[in-house]
Amino acid sequence: MSETARSRAAALAHLRNGGFATGDPIPLPLTMAAIFHTPGDATGLNEYGRYSNPTWDAVEHALGHLENARCIGFPSGMAVISAIFFALLKSGDRVLLPSDGYHATRALAERFLKPFGVAYDLRPTSTFLDGGFAGYRLAFVETPSNPQLDICDIAAVAKAAHEAGAILVADNTAMTPFGQRPLDLGADIVVSADTKATNGHSDVLFGHVASRSDDIIAAVTGWREMSGAIPGPFEAWLVHRGLETLDVRFDRMCSSAEIVAQRLKDHHAVHGLRFPGLEGDPSHNLARAQMERFGFLVSFELASEEKAEAFINNCPLIEAATSFGGVHTSAERRAKRGDAVAPGFVRLSIGCEPVEELWQAIEASLDRISG
Ligand SMILES: *Cc1c(COP(=O)(O)O)cnc(C)c1O
Repeated sequence: MSETARSRAAALAHLRNGGFATGDPIPLPLTMAAIFHTPGDATGLNEYGRYSNPTWDAVEHALGHLENARCIGFPSGMAVISAIFFALLKSGDRVLLPSDGYHATRALAERFLKPFGVAYDLRPTSTFLDGGFAGYRLAFVETPSNPQLDICDIAAVAKAAHEAGAILVADNTAMTPFGQRPLDLGADIVVSADTKATNGHSDVLFGHVASRSDDIIAAVTGWREMSGAIPGPFEAWLVHRGLETLDVRFDRMCSSAEIVAQRLKDHHAVHGLRFPGLEGDPSHNLARAQMERFGFLVSFELASEEKAEAFINNCPLIEAATSFGGVHTSAERRAKRGDAVAPGFVRLSIGCEPVEELWQAIEASLDRISG
Protein backbone atom coordinates (compact mmCIF):
# COMPACT_ATOMS: atom_id res chain seq x y z
CA MET A 1 0.00 0.00 0.00
CA SER A 2 1.26 3.48 -0.85
CA GLU A 3 2.10 5.94 1.91
CA THR A 4 -0.95 8.11 1.11
CA ALA A 5 -3.22 5.07 1.24
CA ARG A 6 -1.74 4.13 4.63
CA SER A 7 -2.24 7.60 6.05
CA ARG A 8 -5.81 7.68 4.71
CA ALA A 9 -6.47 4.31 6.35
CA ALA A 10 -4.94 5.48 9.63
CA ALA A 11 -6.99 8.67 9.79
CA LEU A 12 -10.27 6.93 8.87
CA ALA A 13 -10.84 5.52 12.34
CA HIS A 14 -10.41 8.98 13.90
CA LEU A 15 -12.52 11.14 11.57
CA ARG A 16 -15.09 11.84 14.28
CA ASN A 17 -12.39 13.04 16.66
CA GLY A 18 -12.35 16.83 16.81
CA GLY A 19 -16.14 17.16 16.81
CA PHE A 20 -16.51 15.48 20.20
CA ALA A 21 -18.00 17.04 23.32
CA THR A 22 -17.04 15.38 26.62
CA GLY A 23 -19.22 12.33 27.18
CA ASP A 24 -20.06 11.83 23.48
CA PRO A 25 -20.03 8.25 22.18
CA ILE A 26 -16.84 7.42 20.25
CA PRO A 27 -18.67 5.21 17.71
CA LEU A 28 -21.21 6.78 15.36
CA PRO A 29 -24.72 7.16 16.78
CA LEU A 30 -27.53 6.01 14.49
CA THR A 31 -30.11 8.69 13.75
CA MET A 32 -33.42 7.14 12.72
CA ALA A 33 -35.46 10.24 11.87
CA ALA A 34 -37.84 11.34 9.13
CA ILE A 35 -38.34 14.79 10.68
CA PHE A 36 -36.23 17.19 12.73
CA HIS A 37 -36.99 20.07 15.11
CA THR A 38 -37.22 23.06 12.76
CA PRO A 39 -38.92 26.14 14.24
CA GLY A 40 -38.63 29.25 12.04
CA ASP A 41 -35.94 29.38 9.38
CA ALA A 42 -33.98 26.11 9.45
CA THR A 43 -32.00 26.64 6.23
CA GLY A 44 -28.85 24.54 6.23
CA LEU A 45 -30.04 22.29 9.06
CA ASN A 46 -31.63 18.85 8.96
CA GLU A 47 -35.29 19.34 8.11
CA TYR A 48 -36.64 16.24 6.43
CA GLY A 49 -35.28 12.73 5.99
CA ARG A 50 -35.42 12.73 2.19
CA TYR A 51 -33.00 15.67 2.09
CA SER A 52 -30.46 14.90 4.79
CA ASN A 53 -29.62 12.68 7.73
CA PRO A 54 -26.66 12.86 10.16
CA THR A 55 -25.83 9.16 9.65
CA TRP A 56 -25.60 9.68 5.88
CA ASP A 57 -23.35 12.68 6.53
CA ALA A 58 -20.97 10.50 8.53
CA VAL A 59 -20.71 7.69 5.99
CA GLU A 60 -20.38 10.18 3.12
CA HIS A 61 -17.65 11.99 5.05
CA ALA A 62 -15.77 8.71 5.59
CA LEU A 63 -16.17 7.69 1.93
CA GLY A 64 -15.15 11.19 0.86
CA HIS A 65 -12.02 10.90 2.99
CA LEU A 66 -11.08 7.67 1.18
CA GLU A 67 -11.97 8.95 -2.31
CA ASN A 68 -10.52 12.44 -1.75
CA ALA A 69 -13.75 13.70 -3.33
CA ARG A 70 -17.32 14.55 -2.41
CA CYS A 71 -19.51 11.46 -2.00
CA ILE A 72 -23.27 10.94 -2.08
CA GLY A 73 -24.82 7.74 -0.70
CA PHE A 74 -27.56 5.70 -2.37
CA PRO A 75 -29.60 2.63 -1.40
CA SER A 76 -27.81 0.30 -3.86
CA GLY A 77 -25.22 0.22 -6.61
CA MET A 78 -27.92 0.34 -9.27
CA ALA A 79 -29.51 3.37 -7.56
CA VAL A 80 -26.10 5.06 -8.02
CA ILE A 81 -25.86 4.17 -11.70
CA SER A 82 -29.48 5.27 -12.24
CA ALA A 83 -28.71 8.58 -10.52
CA ILE A 84 -25.78 9.20 -12.87
CA PHE A 85 -27.83 8.39 -15.96
CA PHE A 86 -31.01 10.23 -15.02
CA ALA A 87 -29.34 13.26 -13.43
CA LEU A 88 -26.78 13.87 -16.18
CA LEU A 89 -28.33 12.71 -19.48
CA LYS A 90 -31.06 14.15 -21.62
CA SER A 91 -32.95 13.05 -24.70
CA GLY A 92 -30.69 12.95 -27.76
CA ASP A 93 -27.55 12.00 -25.78
CA ARG A 94 -25.52 8.92 -26.59
CA VAL A 95 -23.59 6.81 -24.05
CA LEU A 96 -20.92 4.13 -24.36
CA LEU A 97 -21.05 1.14 -22.00
CA PRO A 98 -18.87 -1.94 -21.56
CA SER A 99 -20.28 -5.01 -23.31
CA ASP A 100 -18.70 -7.25 -20.66
CA GLY A 101 -19.54 -5.35 -17.45
CA TYR A 102 -22.24 -5.74 -14.82
CA HIS A 103 -25.35 -6.95 -16.69
CA ALA A 104 -27.88 -4.65 -14.99
CA THR A 105 -26.07 -1.52 -16.24
CA ARG A 106 -26.76 -2.61 -19.84
CA ALA A 107 -30.32 -3.67 -19.00
CA LEU A 108 -31.01 -0.26 -17.43
CA ALA A 109 -29.88 1.45 -20.64
CA GLU A 110 -31.92 -0.86 -22.85
CA ARG A 111 -35.13 -0.80 -20.84
CA PHE A 112 -35.19 2.71 -19.41
CA LEU A 113 -32.73 5.04 -21.19
CA LYS A 114 -33.72 4.06 -24.71
CA PRO A 115 -37.43 4.87 -24.28
CA PHE A 116 -36.36 8.35 -23.03
CA GLY A 117 -34.38 8.95 -26.22
CA VAL A 118 -30.88 8.21 -24.86
CA ALA A 119 -29.04 5.85 -27.20
CA TYR A 120 -26.24 3.55 -26.13
CA ASP A 121 -23.47 1.47 -27.68
CA LEU A 122 -21.47 -1.40 -26.23
CA ARG A 123 -17.73 -2.00 -26.46
CA PRO A 124 -15.51 -4.69 -24.90
CA THR A 125 -13.36 -3.49 -21.99
CA SER A 126 -10.10 -4.80 -23.45
CA THR A 127 -10.52 -2.61 -26.57
CA PHE A 128 -12.47 0.25 -25.02
CA LEU A 129 -10.21 2.93 -26.51
CA ASP A 130 -10.65 1.68 -30.08
CA GLY A 131 -13.06 3.79 -32.09
CA GLY A 132 -12.73 6.92 -29.94
CA PHE A 133 -15.49 8.80 -28.15
CA ALA A 134 -16.80 11.31 -30.69
CA GLY A 135 -20.56 11.80 -30.34
CA TYR A 136 -20.76 10.45 -26.79
CA ARG A 137 -21.97 12.52 -23.85
CA LEU A 138 -20.84 9.89 -21.34
CA ALA A 139 -18.50 6.90 -21.38
CA PHE A 140 -18.74 4.28 -18.66
CA VAL A 141 -15.94 1.86 -17.81
CA GLU A 142 -15.81 -1.05 -15.42
CA THR A 143 -12.22 -2.17 -14.96
CA PRO A 144 -11.47 -4.93 -14.17
CA SER A 145 -14.64 -6.00 -15.95
CA ASN A 146 -17.02 -8.32 -14.22
CA PRO A 147 -16.77 -11.33 -14.50
CA GLN A 148 -13.94 -11.80 -17.04
CA LEU A 149 -11.44 -9.40 -15.45
CA ASP A 150 -10.33 -7.55 -18.57
CA ILE A 151 -8.87 -4.09 -18.06
CA CYS A 152 -8.81 -0.78 -19.86
CA ASP A 153 -6.43 2.14 -19.42
CA ILE A 154 -8.44 4.64 -17.35
CA ALA A 155 -6.04 7.56 -17.89
CA ALA A 156 -5.97 7.05 -21.67
CA VAL A 157 -9.76 6.64 -21.86
CA ALA A 158 -10.26 9.77 -19.71
CA LYS A 159 -7.98 11.81 -21.96
CA ALA A 160 -9.62 10.63 -25.20
CA ALA A 161 -13.14 10.99 -23.76
CA HIS A 162 -12.46 14.54 -22.57
CA GLU A 163 -10.99 15.52 -25.93
CA ALA A 164 -14.22 14.29 -27.54
CA GLY A 165 -16.35 16.21 -25.02
CA ALA A 166 -17.55 13.18 -23.05
CA ILE A 167 -17.49 12.67 -19.30
CA LEU A 168 -16.00 9.47 -17.92
CA VAL A 169 -17.67 7.34 -15.25
CA ALA A 170 -15.76 4.45 -13.67
CA ASP A 171 -17.50 1.64 -11.80
CA ASN A 172 -14.91 0.90 -9.10
CA THR A 173 -16.99 -1.67 -7.18
CA ALA A 174 -14.48 -4.51 -7.44
CA MET A 175 -11.49 -2.43 -6.37
CA THR A 176 -12.65 0.03 -3.66
CA PRO A 177 -10.67 3.24 -3.04
CA PHE A 178 -7.83 1.12 -1.60
CA GLY A 179 -7.37 -0.88 -4.82
CA GLN A 180 -7.73 1.65 -7.61
CA ARG A 181 -8.22 5.42 -7.81
CA PRO A 182 -10.06 6.32 -11.03
CA LEU A 183 -10.54 10.00 -10.08
CA ASP A 184 -6.76 10.39 -9.72
CA LEU A 185 -6.42 8.83 -13.19
CA GLY A 186 -8.77 11.37 -14.72
CA ALA A 187 -12.29 9.90 -14.44
CA ASP A 188 -14.96 12.49 -13.63
CA ILE A 189 -17.12 10.19 -11.54
CA VAL A 190 -16.63 7.01 -9.55
CA VAL A 191 -19.64 4.82 -8.90
CA SER A 192 -19.44 1.98 -6.41
CA ALA A 193 -21.77 -0.78 -5.28
CA ASP A 194 -20.82 -0.72 -1.60
CA THR A 195 -23.03 -3.78 -1.24
CA LYS A 196 -19.84 -5.63 -2.14
CA ALA A 197 -16.40 -5.24 -0.52
CA THR A 198 -16.87 -1.72 0.85
CA ASN A 199 -19.49 -2.86 3.33
CA GLY A 200 -18.08 -6.34 3.13
CA HIS A 201 -20.45 -8.21 5.44
CA SER A 202 -23.12 -9.12 2.85
CA ASP A 203 -25.88 -7.68 5.04
CA VAL A 204 -26.89 -4.44 3.25
CA LEU A 205 -27.21 -2.96 -0.20
CA PHE A 206 -25.62 0.47 -0.57
CA GLY A 207 -23.76 2.57 -3.11
CA HIS A 208 -22.03 5.89 -3.57
CA VAL A 209 -21.11 8.46 -6.20
CA ALA A 210 -17.75 10.19 -5.83
CA SER A 211 -16.77 13.26 -7.83
CA ARG A 212 -14.57 16.35 -7.57
CA SER A 213 -17.01 18.35 -9.72
CA ASP A 214 -19.46 20.52 -7.75
CA ASP A 215 -21.86 20.53 -10.73
CA ILE A 216 -22.00 16.75 -10.86
CA ILE A 217 -22.47 16.46 -7.09
CA ALA A 218 -25.26 19.08 -7.20
CA ALA A 219 -27.05 17.26 -10.04
CA VAL A 220 -26.83 13.88 -8.30
CA THR A 221 -27.93 15.33 -4.95
CA GLY A 222 -30.92 16.95 -6.66
CA TRP A 223 -31.80 13.62 -8.26
CA ARG A 224 -31.67 11.88 -4.86
CA GLU A 225 -33.93 14.52 -3.28
CA MET A 226 -36.54 14.42 -6.05
CA SER A 227 -36.50 10.73 -6.96
CA GLY A 228 -36.50 9.68 -3.31
CA ALA A 229 -33.80 7.07 -3.98
CA ILE A 230 -32.41 7.55 -0.47
CA PRO A 231 -30.40 5.15 1.70
CA GLY A 232 -31.91 4.04 4.99
CA PRO A 233 -30.06 5.46 8.02
CA PHE A 234 -29.49 1.98 9.45
CA GLU A 235 -27.91 0.79 6.18
CA ALA A 236 -25.71 3.89 6.17
CA TRP A 237 -24.69 3.11 9.75
CA LEU A 238 -23.77 -0.47 8.85
CA VAL A 239 -21.70 0.69 5.88
CA HIS A 240 -19.93 3.19 8.15
CA ARG A 241 -19.06 0.31 10.45
CA GLY A 242 -17.94 -1.86 7.54
CA LEU A 243 -15.66 0.91 6.31
CA GLU A 244 -13.71 0.84 9.57
CA THR A 245 -12.27 -2.56 8.63
CA LEU A 246 -12.14 -2.13 4.84
CA ASP A 247 -8.37 -1.67 4.75
CA VAL A 248 -7.75 -4.83 6.80
CA ARG A 249 -10.30 -6.95 4.93
CA PHE A 250 -9.27 -5.77 1.47
CA ASP A 251 -5.59 -6.31 2.22
CA ARG A 252 -6.21 -9.89 3.39
CA MET A 253 -8.53 -10.67 0.47
CA CYS A 254 -6.13 -9.35 -2.17
CA SER A 255 -3.10 -11.07 -0.63
CA SER A 256 -4.96 -14.38 -0.41
CA ALA A 257 -6.23 -14.03 -4.00
CA GLU A 258 -2.62 -13.69 -5.20
CA ILE A 259 -1.68 -16.92 -3.45
CA VAL A 260 -4.79 -18.84 -4.52
CA ALA A 261 -4.51 -17.70 -8.17
CA GLN A 262 -0.85 -18.72 -8.30
CA ARG A 263 -1.74 -22.22 -7.09
CA LEU A 264 -4.87 -22.56 -9.27
CA LYS A 265 -2.57 -22.00 -12.25
CA ASP A 266 -0.92 -25.34 -11.52
CA HIS A 267 -4.12 -27.34 -10.97
CA HIS A 268 -4.91 -29.58 -13.95
CA ALA A 269 -8.73 -29.16 -13.62
CA VAL A 270 -8.47 -25.37 -14.08
CA HIS A 271 -8.47 -23.72 -17.52
CA GLY A 272 -8.70 -20.14 -18.75
CA LEU A 273 -7.59 -18.77 -15.38
CA ARG A 274 -7.87 -15.00 -15.15
CA PHE A 275 -6.37 -12.86 -12.39
CA PRO A 276 -4.76 -9.48 -13.13
CA GLY A 277 -1.99 -10.25 -10.65
CA LEU A 278 -0.64 -13.23 -12.59
CA GLU A 279 2.36 -12.61 -14.78
CA GLY A 280 1.26 -13.53 -18.28
CA ASP A 281 -2.39 -12.57 -17.71
CA PRO A 282 -3.52 -10.27 -20.58
CA SER A 283 -4.41 -7.65 -17.93
CA HIS A 284 -1.17 -7.86 -15.96
CA ASN A 285 0.99 -5.04 -17.33
CA LEU A 286 -1.77 -2.46 -17.29
CA ALA A 287 -2.91 -3.69 -13.88
CA ARG A 288 0.59 -3.12 -12.50
CA ALA A 289 0.53 0.41 -13.87
CA GLN A 290 -2.91 1.57 -12.80
CA MET A 291 -4.09 -0.54 -9.86
CA GLU A 292 -2.81 -0.35 -6.29
CA ARG A 293 -3.75 -4.01 -5.71
CA PHE A 294 -4.86 -6.80 -8.06
CA GLY A 295 -8.21 -7.34 -6.34
CA PHE A 296 -9.83 -10.40 -4.80
CA LEU A 297 -11.71 -11.81 -7.82
CA VAL A 298 -10.38 -14.79 -9.72
CA SER A 299 -12.14 -16.47 -12.63
CA PHE A 300 -11.57 -19.75 -14.44
CA GLU A 301 -13.28 -22.52 -16.34
CA LEU A 302 -13.94 -26.07 -15.26
CA ALA A 303 -14.77 -28.78 -17.77
CA SER A 304 -18.58 -28.61 -17.51
CA GLU A 305 -21.56 -27.08 -15.75
CA GLU A 306 -21.82 -30.17 -13.52
CA LYS A 307 -18.17 -30.01 -12.49
CA ALA A 308 -18.37 -26.30 -11.76
CA GLU A 309 -21.50 -26.79 -9.62
CA ALA A 310 -19.89 -29.71 -7.78
CA PHE A 311 -16.69 -27.72 -7.16
CA ILE A 312 -18.64 -24.81 -5.65
CA ASN A 313 -21.26 -26.77 -3.74
CA ASN A 314 -18.93 -29.35 -2.20
CA CYS A 315 -16.29 -26.96 -0.90
CA PRO A 316 -16.96 -26.25 2.79
CA LEU A 317 -15.14 -22.88 2.66
CA ILE A 318 -17.03 -21.55 -0.40
CA GLU A 319 -20.53 -20.12 -0.22
CA ALA A 320 -22.60 -20.68 -3.34
CA ALA A 321 -23.87 -17.14 -3.83
CA THR A 322 -24.10 -14.34 -6.34
CA SER A 323 -22.34 -11.07 -5.54
CA PHE A 324 -18.78 -10.81 -4.20
CA GLY A 325 -16.54 -8.96 -1.80
CA GLY A 326 -17.84 -10.43 1.45
CA VAL A 327 -15.78 -11.80 4.33
CA HIS A 328 -16.85 -15.30 3.22
CA THR A 329 -15.26 -16.73 0.12
CA SER A 330 -18.05 -17.22 -2.42
CA ALA A 331 -18.39 -18.41 -5.98
CA GLU A 332 -20.87 -18.47 -8.78
CA ARG A 333 -21.19 -20.14 -12.16
CA ARG A 334 -21.79 -16.98 -14.15
CA ALA A 335 -23.56 -18.57 -17.13
CA LYS A 336 -26.43 -18.95 -14.63
CA ARG A 337 -26.80 -15.13 -14.66
CA GLY A 338 -26.69 -14.84 -18.43
CA ASP A 339 -23.06 -13.64 -18.77
CA ALA A 340 -21.53 -14.60 -22.13
CA VAL A 341 -19.20 -17.23 -20.65
CA ALA A 342 -18.78 -21.02 -20.87
CA PRO A 343 -21.13 -23.20 -18.77
CA GLY A 344 -18.23 -24.23 -16.49
CA PHE A 345 -17.00 -20.62 -15.93
CA VAL A 346 -16.58 -19.84 -12.22
CA ARG A 347 -16.10 -16.44 -10.59
CA LEU A 348 -14.44 -16.87 -7.23
CA SER A 349 -14.48 -14.06 -4.66
CA ILE A 350 -11.76 -14.61 -2.10
CA GLY A 351 -12.80 -13.76 1.45
CA CYS A 352 -11.02 -13.27 4.75
CA GLU A 353 -10.44 -16.89 5.79
CA PRO A 354 -6.84 -17.85 6.65
CA VAL A 355 -5.35 -18.62 3.26
CA GLU A 356 -3.75 -22.03 3.87
CA GLU A 357 -7.03 -23.49 5.18
CA LEU A 358 -8.88 -21.85 2.29
CA TRP A 359 -6.49 -23.23 -0.31
CA GLN A 360 -6.64 -26.74 1.14
CA ALA A 361 -10.46 -26.70 0.90
CA ILE A 362 -10.37 -25.34 -2.68
CA GLU A 363 -7.76 -27.87 -3.76
CA ALA A 364 -9.65 -30.78 -2.19
CA SER A 365 -12.86 -29.76 -3.97
CA LEU A 366 -11.00 -29.47 -7.31
CA ASP A 367 -9.37 -32.85 -6.74
CA ARG A 368 -12.79 -34.43 -6.12
CA ILE A 369 -14.20 -33.26 -9.49
CA SER A 370 -11.11 -34.32 -11.40
CA GLY A 371 -10.83 -37.79 -9.84
C1 LIG B 1 -23.25 -5.47 -7.85
C2 LIG B 1 -22.76 -4.49 -8.81
C3 LIG B 1 -23.53 -3.37 -9.15
C4 LIG B 1 -24.93 -3.16 -8.60
O1 LIG B 1 -24.96 -3.04 -7.20
P1 LIG B 1 -26.30 -3.33 -6.36
O2 LIG B 1 -25.94 -2.86 -4.99
O3 LIG B 1 -26.58 -4.79 -6.47
O4 LIG B 1 -27.41 -2.53 -6.97
C5 LIG B 1 -22.99 -2.46 -10.04
N1 LIG B 1 -21.78 -2.64 -10.59
C6 LIG B 1 -21.01 -3.71 -10.29
C7 LIG B 1 -19.66 -3.85 -10.90
C8 LIG B 1 -21.48 -4.67 -9.40
O5 LIG B 1 -20.74 -5.73 -9.12
